[in-house]
Amino acid sequence: MSGLIDQFGRTATDLRMSLIDKCNLRCQYCMPAEGLDWMKKDDMIAAHEAIRLADIAVRLLGVDEIRFTGGEPLVRADLVDIIGGVHALHPEVDLSLTTNGINLERKIDALVEAGLSRINVSLDTVCPETFAKITRRDRLTKVLSGLHAAKAAGLDPIKINAVLLRGINDQEATELLTWTFKHGYKLRFIEQMPLDADQSWKRANMVTAAEIRDQISQTYTLSPHEEERGSAPAERFNVSDPTTNEVLGTVGIIASVTEPFCADCTRTRITADAKIRSCLFSHTETDLMDLLRDGSSDEAIADAWRQAMWHKPKAHGQTKTGLGMPGFVQPERSMSAIGG
Ligand code: SAM
Ligand code: SF4
Repeated sequence: MSGLIDQFGRTATDLRMSLIDKCNLRCQYCMPAEGLDWMKKDDMIAAHEAIRLADIAVRLLGVDEIRFTGGEPLVRADLVDIIGGVHALHPEVDLSLTTNGINLERKIDALVEAGLSRINVSLDTVCPETFAKITRRDRLTKVLSGLHAAKAAGLDPIKINAVLLRGINDQEATELLTWTFKHGYKLRFIEQMPLDADQSWKRANMVTAAEIRDQISQTYTLSPHEEERGSAPAERFNVSDPTTNEVLGTVGIIASVTEPFCADCTRTRITADAKIRSCLFSHTETDLMDLLRDGSSDEAIADAWRQAMWHKPKAHGQTKTGLGMPGFVQPERSMSAIGG
């Protein structure tokens, strides 16, 4: 059995599977305020197809971790069936979910019972007005109750993903971090990437990892986390109180734009319409849907997947100079349609 190896010597073992492109929020850095054509239901992988793809990935391609995402994965009515189906085949595999937390309160117990082992909830602010501005929906309390329910269901750690937007929540990094310490969540900041549907991202305008570290350092002391980073995208820091030196917790910073980690990338992605994307910023995709539906064998699907990953670009998409630099062209699909 050969795994998902690329021509630059990396092996992908971490699958991000998007289950839907629809979402019940409209975050500025991801979706437009209105519009965006949804995939047709028939063009989306059905539950049994998602389970089959996950099984092929684990059994034939060496994947050992699967994260379900979207769009908003909780919008899919059969999410529990998908997680339960994959878990029944591969109880040894870590199954996680990236969600905006809306409706999590209602679904968390069934998800955990089905085999969900970890969760990341996206939350950029704890201020209701800022939340409404970023997501264009007034639903902060739903996210907070979802987080609370995840904790009550025993998931640990509960990670929070936050994106900072210039002029909106760029001054809230420390407040958000203090809040996560109080509630026992693990915060990770993600640099805003050029994956918004509006295509309004500008490198000069984004909040950088260095800026985030500087802002937090005005209140807390940051020191490198003792654990090896390996292929983890987040650089982790211990956060301590500068007067008592007491370690209060950790913070992660994912500097995809200013300090990219492409050389250590272990990810393979599949969209909700069964297209393999070897990189978030790819301009090419490999379709598996036809193979899934024309009677092709699992081995044939695995071969097509290997081929797609062999051509994974060395670094972000097609450019040598970096995101937003000369030569960079933003992918046609925005983040909600790729799956973050
Ligand atoms: N709807 C779910 C959510 O928001 O968690 C899952 C899908 S969302 C596309 C996955 C992650 O991508 C979220 O943490 C979100 O903050 C992040 N994201 C979306 N657009 C982004 C962008 N342009 N730059 C950086 N992160 C982004
Ligand atoms: Fe929806 Fe997640 Fe995109 Fe926000 S980041 S619009 S919650 S898919």
